Amino acid sequence: MLKLGFNEATCMKKSNVETDLRLCEKYGYDYIELRLDMLKDYFASHSIQELQSFFAGSHIKPFAFNSIENINFNTPSDWEKLLDLFKFGCETAQAIGNPYMIVVPTVRDDMVTKNEKEVLEDSVKVLNELADVAKPYGVKLSFEPIGNRRWCCNSMRQAMEIIQAVGRDDVGLTVDCINFYLHDKGADIGYLRKIPKEKLFVFHINDCEDLPLGILDHCHRVFPGDGVIPVQEVCDAVQAVGYDEIASLELFRPEYWEMEPEDVIRIGAEKCHQFF
Ligand code: ZN
Repeated sequence: MLKLGFNEATCMKKSNVETDLRLCEKYGYDYIELRLDMLKDYFASHSIQELQSFFAGSHIKPFAFNSIENINFNTPSDWEKLLDLFKFGCETAQAIGNPYMIVVPTVRDDMVTKNEKEVLEDSVKVLNELADVAKPYGVKLSFEPIGNRRWCCNSMRQAMEIIQAVGRDDVGLTVDCINFYLHDKGADIGYLRKIPKEKLFVFHINDCEDLPLGILDHCHRVFPGDGVIPVQEVCDAVQAVGYDEIASLELFRPEYWEMEPEDVIRIGAEKCHQFF
């Protein structure tokens, strides 16, 4: 069975690492996906030992850090900045036993001018480079295609082709309900059932409003079951391949950012449990 996870994007405007950890433990979440920017804020007034001792004494465990963004087609100076953040993530991950890092393709206006071959070649190169850096820390990369066309990798099929071309056991896929839906309204749900179990690392659960592609965006995410994504079918598909790890609630909805984090975290657990 899938296990309940919480992604810190969901309450990121009113909450912080300490609050998310306390509330997710209270409401029975199994895993948390910590955000790198929120971890940096946390370490301004807390130590790594405090984080280690929290996890040692709690049911909830860390699962994946979010996220290393814009990994493709970087200038050398942008790549150096990305590597600094990535190494901070790897060191922290190793210290608290967090197995995965989410890595995201590049979003930029000129990405629509890149063909799939160029995106594949660049992605294979940068994913190998990042995986080499992460390896000594025991951290694996979970590559997440983002469904909107402005991201250079925007379908599960394209991401899987890249991951297969990389061909290493420490680089796999993130399936996210809205990123799957944003590509073609989930027309090929059967594709999810063909993902090899060993390549499926992270599953993000969410739903969205009924809006046309091109208008629909991440701010339109809603609680699972409140929108138009066939969430049950997506959950069934990832479980059909044998995946039984995290279903992580990941929302970027401004309306929820204004709510009390405790309400969002409590309601979120109830909404997710309808599906597993
Ligand atoms: Zn996601």
